[in-house]
Amino acid sequence: MLDGLPIEAVATAFGIVGLLIGSFLNVVIYRLPKIMERQWAAECAELSVTLVESEEQASATRTFNLMVPASRCSGCGHVIRWYENIPVLSYVFLTGRCSACGTPYGLRYPAVELVTGLLFAFCAWRWGASLTALVWCGFSAALLALALIDWDTTLLPDDITLPLLWAGLIAAALRWNPSVSLPDALWGAVAGYLSLWLVFWAFKLVTGKEGMGYGDFKLFAALGAWFGWPALVPMILMASVIGAVIGIAMKFSTGLREGGIIPFGPFLAGAGFTAMIFGPQSILRFAGL
Ligand SMILES: [Zn+2]
Repeated sequence: MLDGLPIEAVATAFGIVGLLIGSFLNVVIYRLPKIMERQWAAECAELSVTLVESEEQASATRTFNLMVPASRCSGCGHVIRWYENIPVLSYVFLTGRCSACGTPYGLRYPAVELVTGLLFAFCAWRWGASLTALVWCGFSAALLALALIDWDTTLLPDDITLPLLWAGLIAAALRWNPSVSLPDALWGAVAGYLSLWLVFWAFKLVTGKEGMGYGDFKLFAALGAWFGWPALVPMILMASVIGAVIGIAMKFSTGLREGGIIPFGPFLAGAGFTAMIFGPQSILRFAGL
């Protein structure tokens, strides 16, 4: 349908869809960790033998998913209307505040929308109006959500990492992602998972500490499926170096958080975006290798 159009028009159309998907990603980033916590609370409640239903258990059973309830202002509970929820534009027109009580909304919401829009436009510009562009849009959306959820909560939900891994293998098998063969994608997934799993256990045996989580293995396995095993070394180099630099900077600044945990997922995601935009081998060239 978009075949005859100039690439600028295709990229603009993808960019607009990206803004809308970005708006949905804000909901996913905010709610998915809460949905997971509620599920854990509900499971714990089932296992416990207390007959009196606590407030926490009661709230765990109230409907709360990605669609229900409607988004509300955290300050006054004002339900966000559809015209107050137009990506980026609503933020600009409402000057970043709730229309009812004036509580400021974070700049993060329009930023996520804008970045998703730009990533989608890039995919269209790079791969044209094709299935390949669409699958890379999906990859971008999933990776952005994972990076921010991990940054906020140090969780990498299986609900995103595992479909991302399967999608990478399927995209390779069906040639929707023609840059990687199915064997390269498969061994990328296996080697991605096992390499971090081995580092995790070696680190744990030596220091007694856990330096990563299983979500990191799954995310790296997914990146292996999307880029093939030869891309794993450049990506882990980039994620480790940038992660270490930012980790050290945060230790010296007041930005150090409770427990001093710096999630690794955002840096893996950053390496994934670099590999998508510039090609995996470009990372080695940037590093002068
Ligand atoms: Zn409000």
